[in-house]
Amino acid sequence: MAYVSLYRKYRPQNFEDVVGQAHVTTTLKNAVSAGRVASGYLFCGTRGTAKTTCARILAKALNCIGPDGANTLPTPEPCGQCGPCRSIAASNFVDVLEMDAASHGKVDDVRDLVASIKFPPMEGRYKVYIIDEAHQLSRDAMDAFLKTLEEPPDRVVFILATTELEKLPITIASRCQVFEFKRGTIAQISQRLSQVLQEEGVAAEPQATALVARAADGSYRDSLSLLEQVLAYKRENVTAHDVSLVLGTVDEDVLAHTVGLLAASDAAGVFELAGSVVASGKDIRQFLKSLSGRLRDMLYLSVGAPVATADGLDDSATVRKQAAQFAPADLLRALEIISDAERESRFNNQHRLLLEMTLLRLVRLPSSPAAVAAEPVARIAPAPVAAPAVKPIAAAPIATTAPVAQPIAPAPTPPRAAAPEAPSPAPQPVLTVEAVAPVLAGSPLDSDLLADELVDDEPEEMDALLPGDDIVDILPGDEQAADEGGDSALPSLFTPSIDIPEEDEEPEDLLHVQTVAVTEPPPPVVPTRPALPPDAHPDLLRLQKAWQEVINRMGTRSPSGAAHVRDASPIAIREKTILLQFTGRFHYERMESSEKGRKALEDIINKTLALEPGTYKIKCTMQGENAGIRATPPEPSKQAPRVIEEAPESPLMDEVIAVFGGRVLDEEGSKGY
Ligand SMILES: [Zn+2]
Repeated sequence: MAYVSLYRKYRPQNFEDVVGQAHVTTTLKNAVSAGRVASGYLFCGTRGTAKTTCARILAKALNCIGPDGANTLPTPEPCGQCGPCRSIAASNFVDVLEMDAASHGKVDDVRDLVASIKFPPMEGRYKVYIIDEAHQLSRDAMDAFLKTLEEPPDRVVFILATTELEKLPITIASRCQVFEFKRGTIAQISQRLSQVLQEEGVAAEPQATALVARAADGSYRDSLSLLEQVLAYKRENVTAHDVSLVLGTVDEDVLAHTVGLLAASDAAGVFELAGSVVASGKDIRQFLKSLSGRLRDMLYLSVGAPVATADGLDDSATVRKQAAQFAPADLLRALEIISDAERESRFNNQHRLLLEMTLLRLVRLPSSPAAVAAEPVARIAPAPVAAPAVKPIAAAPIATTAPVAQPIAPAPTPPRAAAPEAPSPAPQPVLTVEAVAPVLAGSPLDSDLLADELVDDEPEEMDALLPGDDIVDILPGDEQAADEGGDSALPSLFTPSIDIPEEDEEPEDLLHVQTVAVTEPPPPVVPTRPALPPDAHPDLLRLQKAWQEVINRMGTRSPSGAAHVRDASPIAIREKTILLQFTGRFHYERMESSEKGRKALEDIINKTLALEPGTYKIKCTMQGENAGIRATPPEPSKQAPRVIEEAPESPLMDEVIAVFGGRVLDEEGSKGY
């Protein structure tokens, strides 16, 4: 027998089987029982929450004739055995028409549909039209459809399903009964997975199913696809470790270790950690995601939120203990830093460097216990209390970085930094001041620079810190920077970058390690994914490279504007519109609400790209706002089981589709839109 994917195999065939949507299924059952079925339903909710499944069950309920063919009325409990039930389950019942608006949303498609409506059902009692991704119907198609919805013929039921209710005209939504499908909680999805595993005869740790559930991010369908991947790897005694291995999530131990390093401000330790994460072949984005999940749990606990209401919260003793080591504000800040890094990782293929810098910034959270307790110079070294076992590698930085870290020292220059004959590579785009600031132990500047990202009710302060057009302005020799008291430590931060270390050299000290990271591209083992398809618009690539320049230019006009731009990233170009994606709602809303600001930014972008004014317009979007629409994932039955690389969503693709319309034609995602 042909292999049937878990998702299809365990697709609910009855209202009772649908998990987590009782508010929908109960209402539908009651309507069927009472003979009060509406002519229009609108099912909305994120993908994988059983919207089309419920639509089909309703179609069966309306058309079931019972195993003996004797039923004359719709039934809330379709038998699943009669001809109509089986045909509907197999999607070949003549009176149940499914249409995917993403691919058939044109007005002609709808006209065909509308034309067929006037004919009575051929085999069943009711004609049922299931229109998936209804928000993707074209404007004309919606108009044509609306007329039918206004005066529906007898015995016709429309069921519209959408992941984006707000994109449907109110005229359509108001003519339907609207049901919101809920995302699955981790507990609900875990339970469902446990049932499936039981029926499959596979034993698994509870933590293993919880991990899968967490990775599914609210989608029942995804959870089964992910489980399928895990089962392809191992079909007995599935452990949490197996799941981490297959899904690329991060082991508990690694997370606990990472948080321990942060609590101990162990800067040297994080380099070691980053190395082992990269060596294990994990995607750093997955690592960052897992870490932010852990920090979120800690934040939850540290503010004393009620545990009972937290879905999937890990409140084990370890997490509780570690949560107590951080102030809530620091955890919040840490989550922001990670969020920044996740965004940057899309455009920056130097993932190892990015990971190292991110962890360093996390280590330097201002009031982590060790940082508060220790002297400025000592803050960069592992705190003896929190890290009793001082690693050999951790001892070196104290000595070698100490002179650099004296805030009042008149910018001492490390001896080996003075090699003028060494080539001085241009700073990588990622080498921003705030990114490197963490190594400046004790400098009064670094915390200001970090705060600078918190943006930004005092833009003047930021301007004072970053004068002029470019970050290069505060490279060695810049008198303005040197004049600002404690800032004198800055030049020595940059000087090591002209020191070219030997390959395979053991890291000796923190600055040296930093130098390695800055001047050498990471080894090819780093798993990289192109942030953009290979045929991305050339101007988009140019713009991404020049984005810092855009930020700088904006800064000369409006410091707060620059802060908003810094939060944004150009992610797509279609025709003459550049799509900017924001991660912070504040920045997004400020930019959206300021026509003047957008105009200024457009001018700067065109100027930076050396194009005529008005060549490109911009469109702002908020990251994750459209994460649900991945343009009609194909039926799992028609595709091979998902491979690991496909498992994460592509927010970039989602954004592009959301803004420009269209759909993914090619599974590879490289040329389909
Ligand atoms: Zn039946």
